[in-house]
Amino acid sequence: MNWQLIVDFDGTISLKDTTDLLLKKFADHSWHAIEAEWHSGAIGSRECMMRQIDLIRATPDEMDAFVDSIEIDWHFKSFIRQAQRYSLPVTIVSDGLDYVINSVLRRAGLDGLAVNANHLSYKGDGQWRLSSPFASNSCHSQSGTCKCSIAAQRRDKMTLVIGDGRSDRCVAEEADFVFAKSGLIQFCEEKQLPFTPFRDFSHASVLLADLLEITPTISAGASSVTEKPALKETIYG
Ligand SMILES: [Mg+2]
Ligand SMILES: [Zn+2]
Repeated sequence: MNWQLIVDFDGTISLKDTTDLLLKKFADHSWHAIEAEWHSGAIGSRECMMRQIDLIRATPDEMDAFVDSIEIDWHFKSFIRQAQRYSLPVTIVSDGLDYVINSVLRRAGLDGLAVNANHLSYKGDGQWRLSSPFASNSCHSQSGTCKCSIAAQRRDKMTLVIGDGRSDRCVAEEADFVFAKSGLIQFCEEKQLPFTPFRDFSHASVLLADLLEITPTISAGASSVTEKPALKETIYG
């Protein structure tokens, strides 16, 4: 199988944007004004998040209790098992926070997965620091994590991107195929990228099997899918 999977976290694996939830819970409300600067395009997500994380006041225990409350798409685990049976390399590539993602994956029993995200560390006195080890100055996205440069590291593989939002745009434009949710659907339509919408990871399992031209071996949730997209025409047509 000559594919690699680049999977977004916030809104894709997690049901909500966990950085937004974190800021709502622990940051001074001026984080909204910084968010507005990002929405307007005045700043990239890298600068946006660094300033927002500075506004957080939470002890490590409070942070851990918050992380325990995060809900994910529980079909994600069986989707990963499926990808592993096909020997497909999977990387969680996120413009969110590694601290949150690693905790959530550990809770789901998926702590062996590769995670590329912004690094959140505790400074003491309830304060936290953000660094962005996967940022790229050459990418137009100005995000904390440049997804397109991470995907480009495996040149021998075709890239399947699974995502939902703005942080997935740069890598979706470079991808061989995209499974898209929410705002990323419209972006893929506008840019005429090879993509299919997906509802959740049980649906994504069926779509992945189609993409690989293999009969699905996971039946959970698959019976609810009545209409399969014509993936082959989309890719090769
Ligand atoms: Mg997302
Ligand atoms: Zn990029």
